[in-house]
Amino acid sequence: MINKLAIALIFFTLTVANFAQNPVRPKNIIIMIGDGMGVNYVSTEVLRNPNSPFKDFSYSGFSITCSADKLITDSAAGATALLAGYRTNNGHVGTDSTGVPLKSILEYSKEKNYATGIVVTSGLTNATPAALYANVKSRKEEFDIADQLIKSDVEVFIGGGQKFFLPIEINGIREDSINLIKKLDKFGYTYYDNYQSLQNAETKSKIAAVLEIDAIPNASKRNYSLGDLTKIALKNLKQYENGFILLVEGSQIDWAGHENNAEYAISEMNDFATSIRACLDFAKEDKNTLVLVTADHETGGMSIKKGSLDGNFELGWTHKSHTAEMVPVFSEGPSAELFTGINDNYEIGRRLIRLVNPDIQFK
Ligand SMILES: [Zn+2]
Repeated sequence: MINKLAIALIFFTLTVANFAQNPVRPKNIIIMIGDGMGVNYVSTEVLRNPNSPFKDFSYSGFSITCSADKLITDSAAGATALLAGYRTNNGHVGTDSTGVPLKSILEYSKEKNYATGIVVTSGLTNATPAALYANVKSRKEEFDIADQLIKSDVEVFIGGGQKFFLPIEINGIREDSINLIKKLDKFGYTYYDNYQSLQNAETKSKIAAVLEIDAIPNASKRNYSLGDLTKIALKNLKQYENGFILLVEGSQIDWAGHENNAEYAISEMNDFATSIRACLDFAKEDKNTLVLVTADHETGGMSIKKGSLDGNFELGWTHKSHTAEMVPVFSEGPSAELFTGINDNYEIGRRLIRLVNPDIQFK
């Protein structure tokens, strides 16, 4: 009897030890960033929506959002920490504090033959998505960032910002006369310049959907949701047998925070929730997808000041910029438990990257 117990104990210990060293690697990883989405933004969504997808996550935690040089990060350094696993100075996109390029989860994924995708409501060359595929010293180098995107081999990208791809002569703002949209064909992409045409996208093709001259209109001014865009990306990416890594950003939550605009913040949170729902539904059916939702930082120092139980809120703001407030982390699916507790933003990035390639060592 004692022997049997001892053997059972040894077996149990070895299994736990092995699990700790080798977490279960999901086939697909969906990283969702609500730009500027502090805890109180999530509260507005959860308190107003009884069926909020945020309630469906099995695990949650917090992320400390500081950058390498500042208590209060910007989106460039914030996204670089989450997507490349290193803190860097504010303004740097995919480069360390001295400007040396950092590999992101995109490049590690490519090495392991994952397909990759991006869906955002900002321009595609904005700091957050750029940290996935570009390496520049300044987030302002958006012409260069656009050039790096079309060469990045991301299988599906959907967002706004045509102006950085087009010369001045054709509605763009590039002064170098280069038309990057024309070059997409050479890199194997089918180009979509509006939502109507994107809806009918061939599933067996690389998708370059740059839907607007500027950002995608805010959620209250369009007849499709971030969830609709996300479903198009998922439909395409799921055909890749080796799995995929998808980045989704609710980009304009941050913009609402900068404006201290309650209505805008709530509608962008609703929009982001449509995408979370789409991803959780996909993961539930697929059973081998990790969905991680977090933010790069909080914006506006927002709080729910007054209101009623029916969801009429008056929001309060402390100022018009980012704060150092910790942001929430939600995770569901294989290895979701790795993201609980309080973690530094770059540590979240490292854990995600190690799910793609467990052999990666960080300095
Ligand atoms: Zn911001």
